[in-house]
Amino acid sequence: MRERLLMEQRMRLSLEAGHFEVWFQPRVDLRSRRIIGAEGLVRWRDPEQGLVSPGVFIPLAERSPLIHKLGRTVIEQVIGHARRWHAQGLDFGKLSMNVATPQIERGNLVGELRDILADVEVPRHMLEIEVTESLFMADAERAKRMLGEIRELGLSVAIDDFGTGYSSLAYLKTLPVNHLKIDRAFVRDLPEQASDAAIVRAILAMSQSLGFHVTAEGIETAAQLEFLADAGCVFGQGFLFHKPMPAAEFEALLKLTTPAPAAAPALPMLPPRAGLAGA
Ligand code: C2E
Ligand code: MG
Ligand code: MG
Repeated sequence: MRERLLMEQRMRLSLEAGHFEVWFQPRVDLRSRRIIGAEGLVRWRDPEQGLVSPGVFIPLAERSPLIHKLGRTVIEQVIGHARRWHAQGLDFGKLSMNVATPQIERGNLVGELRDILADVEVPRHMLEIEVTESLFMADAERAKRMLGEIRELGLSVAIDDFGTGYSSLAYLKTLPVNHLKIDRAFVRDLPEQASDAAIVRAILAMSQSLGFHVTAEGIETAAQLEFLADAGCVFGQGFLFHKPMPAAEFEALLKLTTPAPAAAPALPMLPPRAGLAGA
């Protein structure tokens, strides 16, 4: 308990000091390996502990009001980067941000997004919110309404870690969601593990008929990639392609991968103007 309080206290100070930064992990098209987007993943640069992984502090933050301030910082940073990269003509596809269930249940996510986006020039379809299935456990109707409002703002919505939580398939088809991210747990033992292979194929078939985009998470090996691409999975993310990287590094990568704008067509030679000759 004492340790938890101490860590909360340190997080609070770090939030004020701006010690949380968002890293980016590219998402790729599995066939061409082209970058089609990136996921924003928060990191805590703690002066004492160094770089702390979100697996350590997000569960703690979720149990305190800190998650709201932390969540806002993440959203502001991701949208800020999207604005700058878009202004520079860099092709980042879609940037996604993870949102914790309490941020939606007890916060004002829709209002915050509306506020932050009010004077930001970045097409809304270039932004995505990732939620987890736990969001649908307490008050599914309310969750559905909130996600509907996020879609009305023009953002897309993904279900993260799909398949590990409470998945009511009957409910899924009514949700204002357009993207499923298959959890790493189902990808890890592909292609050998027959039950995982069956689950992944089932998610892909269902997504295709319901019209969801699908991203497989945690792809680490060529064999996993081959299985997924053959099974019809279009998008993926994982160490085989790129690890999460600081924003500056992702920006440098975008500068290498964004196609140069088409050169302006050369102006045709104009014939000498009639009547000027000898003037
Ligand atoms: P997630 O949203 O499912 O993010 C994917 C996690 O898988 C990331 O861990 C990423 O580094 C890791 N990963 C990606 N590819 C591979 C791979 O090929 N192999 C392995 N072993 N791991 C891979 P990370 O960055 O440590 O984040 C962990 C979790 O913390 C995230 O899982 C997400 O649930 C949460 N999280 C991260 N950033 C935020 C945030 O800003 N807000 C909230 N609420 N949660 C966040
Ligand atoms: Mg995620
Ligand atoms: Mg995930």
